[in-house]
This record gives sequence, structure tokens and C-alpha cells, in this order.
Amino acid sequence: MQYRIAVIKGDGIGPEITDEAIKVLNVIGKKYGHTFEFQEVLAGGVALDKFGIPLPDETVEICKASDSVLLGAVGGPKWDTLPGHLRPERALLGLRSALGLYANLRPAVLYPALADACPLKPEVVGKGLDIMVVRELTGGIYFGERGRRQTENGEEAYDTEAYSVMEVNRIGRVAFEAARKRGKKLVSIDKANVLESSRLWREEIHRLAAEYPDVTCTDMLVDNAAMQLVRNPGQFDVIVTSNMFGDILSDEASMITGSIGMLPSASLGDSVEGKNTLGMYEPIHGSAPDIAGQNKANPIATILSVAMMLRYSFGLETEALAIENAVNAVLDQGLRTGDIAAKGDTVVGTVEMGEAIAKAIV
Ligand code: NAD
Repeated sequence: MQYRIAVIKGDGIGPEITDEAIKVLNVIGKKYGHTFEFQEVLAGGVALDKFGIPLPDETVEICKASDSVLLGAVGGPKWDTLPGHLRPERALLGLRSALGLYANLRPAVLYPALADACPLKPEVVGKGLDIMVVRELTGGIYFGERGRRQTENGEEAYDTEAYSVMEVNRIGRVAFEAARKRGKKLVSIDKANVLESSRLWREEIHRLAAEYPDVTCTDMLVDNAAMQLVRNPGQFDVIVTSNMFGDILSDEASMITGSIGMLPSASLGDSVEGKNTLGMYEPIHGSAPDIAGQNKANPIATILSVAMMLRYSFGLETEALAIENAVNAVLDQGLRTGDIAAKGDTVVGTVEMGEAIAKAIV
């Protein structure tokens, strides 16, 4: 099969880490008989420098015409003083909305070889951690009506949380499908004891649950979920939640794995029967300007992001697993970039880590 991938390398360590992910994809292509065609486009700080805007129309058009988008990271101190609409990070919001990417999938996995990086006690983590957070990405309070008004108590500001049945249905489906492919356990997180939008959320999730009898679905209030994630994270398989709750809980879930350089993400749009699901795949970390250009960045989050691309956009499960197994194998061999190295470990660079993973693919 032939797949067209738009590549946004971005700023800081972005180019270094995406180069390693492309290296790995090319090995997969050779071993499994696929052709990956890469087209590089600009967004973020590099686009600002060249065109004066963070997200040129041409970038959006090429991404839309591709089967998938790979993103390194954008931003850096050079552009930090620009007004909000010109910040490199605006490119991410623009791309999500232009590509209709409403579902954010963030796995939080604690690798046995990196167990020491977890800030929780071993007895709390138990047999390990493998959670998939599915966050709604284009609705809720981040996109609702907002403003300021005068009241008898002075100025007041407001933001509005609103969810439609359609929005809950489509994110719910993504989560049930993800759970079906994993441990078949879904926890839907809301605040239905207080919020009307959460009550509608819960009703629609329950309606959907009837369509997925093979998945065990339970509800949890967000305050309890925040506590359970550090009390007994092993109880979770897939979590589905709203934009704001997901923003907070996905950071909490990823931080308990202790390694920002290891965690990938996928932002997905509608899946059309018989066609690829357009998605944008990126590491959860930023552009790490402090280590950019020094061959120090950990490329694993980006490499695992392309594994997600193979699984969710192209339906290539075997190939996705081949990448994930190669990452595990290399970690088991003891290879570490600086961010995941313990005292006494031998530290390798970005390129060496990428090459070792590419070589470990079977
Ligand atoms: P960051 O994630 O870039 O860096 C935080 C710390 O983690 C730094 O010490 C960095 O060196 C380290 N780190 C991050 N990724 C690493 C990797 N792959 N390997 C080894 N170490 C790694 O967060 P920040 O410093 O708050 O932000 C830097 C810039 O990135 C800012 O301009 C921010 O707006 C932007 N940002 C972009 C994205 C994105 O493109 N999706 C996300 C978050 C932040």
C-alpha cells in the first residue's frame, strides 16, 4: 500500500525527532511492503519566520490532501513575545479545527525497564500501567461562549461548557472502539452530580454502551478520577472525557509514567468506511529549546506516534506492534537518552536511539 504523510517538523527538537520517526517508518515500509511518501510543510515558528503567520494555507491544504500528518513540536523563546494570534502554538489549534480532529488519544504507559521513573510507589503501580485517555478536542468550555460583563459586584467573566448529543456520540464511539481493541474496559469521566452538560454526556454514553456489550463501561466523577489515578492507576484501561477534564487528567496520567520524552499522541477525525482515518500524530512534549540541535532529544515519543499512525489511520496493527516491540527491545538492551537515564546508565543521542530502534524492527 501507498500512504501520503504530511510532515511538520516544526521548531526546536522537532526536526531531529521527526527525522528518526521517518527513518523507522522507512524500515517498516521496506520490511512490510508499503510505500510512505513524505511531504514536508511548514507550521509554527519556522512558518512565522518565512511567511509571517504560524499556519500558512498551503500547509492546511497539503495536510488535508494527505492520508496522515506527523508533527514534531512547535514554539520557542524567539516567538514568545508575539501576540496570541501569531504564537506558533496557534498552528496546532488551527490544524485541529481545519482537519476536523475531535478525538485526542493519549496512551500513558509505564515501561517495565523505566519503572524507576514513576513517581508512585511500586506497590501502588502494581503490575504496571497502560492507560489510554480519549479526550474530546473541539467542544466544551474551550470553545463555548465567553465574555465579560458588568454586574452589581463589578466586572465578571464567564465561559460556557456545552456538549451536543452528536459531539458526545462521536467521541464516545472512538473510546468504545479503542476499548474494544484493548482491555474492553471503559471509564467515562464527568461531573454529572453538578453539571447539566455532564448529565447529557452520561446519557449518551449509556446509550452507546448498549451497542458495545463486549465493553464494560462505568461512570466516574472527575474529582474521584483525579484521586483514583494516583491511588490505583492499574484499574484503568480506557478513559473517555470532555475537553477540559481530559486536558487535566491526560497530563496527570502521563506524568505518573515519569517520562515526557516517551509519550505519543493521536488526534483523530471521522473514520470513513473503507478509507483511512485522517489523523495528526505528535509527541506530547514541546519543542524543548534547551536541548535543541544537540542530539540529546529522546525520539521515542515521536517514533511511538508513528506506531499510532499505523494503527489508527492505516489499520496496520502488525506494523504498529513491530515498532512498539522494537522500542521495548531497545529499552531492555539498556539504551537510554539523557531524559530517561538513571545514574550509571550509558547515554546515547537522538540519532543513535532512532537507529537502534530501526535496527530492532523484525
Ligand atoms: P517541553 O516539553 O518542550 O520541555 C519541558 C522539559 O522536558 C525540557 O527540559 C525539555 O528539555 C524536556 N524534554 C521535552 N521533550 C523531550 C525529549 N523528547 N527528550 C528529552 N527531553 C525532553 O515544554 P516547555 O519547555 O514548556 O515548552 C517549550 C516550547 O514548546 C514552548 O514554546 C511551548 O509553547 C512549546 N510546546 C509545544 C507543544 C507542541 O508543539 N505540541 C507542546 C507543548 C509545548
